Amino acid sequence: MSEKERCLRPHHVFCLHFQVDFSERGEGFTGKTSEIKRFVQEEQEMSFKLTEGPDDVCSVCPAFDGKGCSHPNGDEKEVKKWDHILLKTFELHFGDVLTAKEVKEILVQRYPIELCKRCPLPGKKLCAPYKAGQ
Ligand code: SF4
Repeated sequence: MSEKERCLRPHHVFCLHFQVDFSERGEGFTGKTSEIKRFVQEEQEMSFKLTEGPDDVCSVCPAFDGKGCSHPNGDEKEVKKWDHILLKTFELHFGDVLTAKEVKEILVQRYPIELCKRCPLPGKKLCAPYKAGQ
């Protein structure tokens, strides 16, 4: 993996950089999510490889139990479903690599998608800038 590539599960590539406040998950988690957000918003020369199962972000998340996600709003079984729905919706596959620019273009063109209706996070309107193409 190059320094300019991050391996992430699909819903982290497409969802984690929205303006949701994750401060209760600790500095390690907010540091990782802020990085992803910055890469996408600034369209930096960074790419994301879509991976299956827990990733680097999970490893610093308090909801990670060492094997998978144990978050009450979406355990590993549930978040795996989100990952598969995103891949299907965007016609992507595990192992595909997207640049930060491509991720942003997909969001601008396709947001909001059907999966957004099931999003358990508060403040879904925070994702709205992508509707406006910002
Ligand atoms: S462990 Fe669960 S809540 Fe934490 S980052 Fe991974 S998928 Fe998200």
